[in-house]
Amino acid sequence: MDYNVIGKAGSRMGTGTMIILDDQTCPVGMVLNLIRFFAHESCGFCTPCREGLPWTHQVLLDIEQGRGQPEDLETLAYQIKYIGTMGNTHCALAPGAMEPLQSALKYFYYDFKQHITGGRCPYH
Ligand code: SF4
Repeated sequence: MDYNVIGKAGSRMGTGTMIILDDQTCPVGMVLNLIRFFAHESCGFCTPCREGLPWTHQVLLDIEQGRGQPEDLETLAYQIKYIGTMGNTHCALAPGAMEPLQSALKYFYYDFKQHITGGRCPYH
């Protein structure tokens, strides 16, 4: 496992942390937990991070608890694009927070849709 190998696989090493999930773990809940962490860690200097991360957290919380709406997925995609763009914030915390969300939407899109259409978390 190194930077080049992971880069060729379409990802990034980041902090080198690896999270392994079994098939009973809700990916929406997992990314919700990560965004909660990043929102808590925000120093509050930049608006997209200070306001955007708690907002993103709330959207994910609604989806995870069965209150999600179909348009929430577009909202998350917009948040990823805006908050995730380096230069829109002073440091890399907020763009870094968008990386796991972007990956979760890419690889677990069906799980997000299932939460919204079913009005509940299918893993609970
Ligand atoms: S992006 Fe960095 S500098 Fe800006 S509010 Fe977040 S933690 Fe602070």
